[in-house]
Amino acid sequence: MTTLYVSHCAALDHVMPEGHPESADRIRAIERVLENERYASLVRAQAPLAEHAVAALGHPAAYVQDIVERSPREGFVQIDGDTLMSPGTLEAALRAVGGAVHAVDAVMTRDCSNAFVAMRPPGHHAERDRAMGFCLFNTAAIAVRHARKAFGASRVALVDWDVHHGNGSQDIFWDDAAVMYASTHEMPLYPGTGKSSERGAHDTIVNVPLVAGDDGAVFREAFEACILPRIAAFAPDLVVISAGFDAHRLDPLAHLRLDESDFGWATRKLMGIADRHAGGRLVSILEGGYDLIGLSRSVGAHMDALMGR
Ligand SMILES: [Zn+2]
Repeated sequence: MTTLYVSHCAALDHVMPEGHPESADRIRAIERVLENERYASLVRAQAPLAEHAVAALGHPAAYVQDIVERSPREGFVQIDGDTLMSPGTLEAALRAVGGAVHAVDAVMTRDCSNAFVAMRPPGHHAERDRAMGFCLFNTAAIAVRHARKAFGASRVALVDWDVHHGNGSQDIFWDDAAVMYASTHEMPLYPGTGKSSERGAHDTIVNVPLVAGDDGAVFREAFEACILPRIAAFAPDLVVISAGFDAHRLDPLAHLRLDESDFGWATRKLMGIADRHAGGRLVSILEGGYDLIGLSRSVGAHMDALMGR
């Protein structure tokens, strides 16, 4: 089993104002963990720069062009309440997309068994034509669409365990019967969407809200009862994970009480479904996770699982 790790130092050049939780230190913390000898056997790749047309797999071309044109030469430009661009943001976002697409290529062609893409900005709040919640391009949604277009994947499961609901992914796949979007998230919490009654035009949206204070046992129960059976019955050709680690008990932006072992457990469960239905093909893409210790431990547990430990 070989696991691909995709990153690029451009992720560090997406600079946010002092004190913004979505900081370059998140990537530095992940890199520090993966420098450990334990992860020496990872296949490492640099995230390529995506063409604008690739970003447009998830968004109207005019939206992508608008983001490109708003990229500042200096300082910051505000795109949404908490979403900004610095001079390095556009390249980081396009390399996040390029990295995710590269990971799909490697997994679909069986160069690697599975992959983790650690880039920023995150993506799952970006709707078809609206940037929000630190997100510009919906990287995971674009990866899913790329698997459909380039490899003819007929069904793709996108599982999102970030503590915030992936309103952007839900928006993009609302009426797409070929994609199952399944999310656990804290409610009420930003962005406010994700009620279990939101099921999509073809009943392929699966929302499982949790409440503040819920721990790993509640998360695992929700996963076992509501997420895993739906994904297994969907029999996907590829499993993509929107891997946010902000449901960790240490995270400052939310109030769930998971620990790193819960992310390792969920990873193994999804790998089991990928093994049964998708030849093991699984691509995981970093979303949130804002406590550097919680993030580091969670990524370690996630990688251990992906590497079959
Ligand atoms: Zn989040």
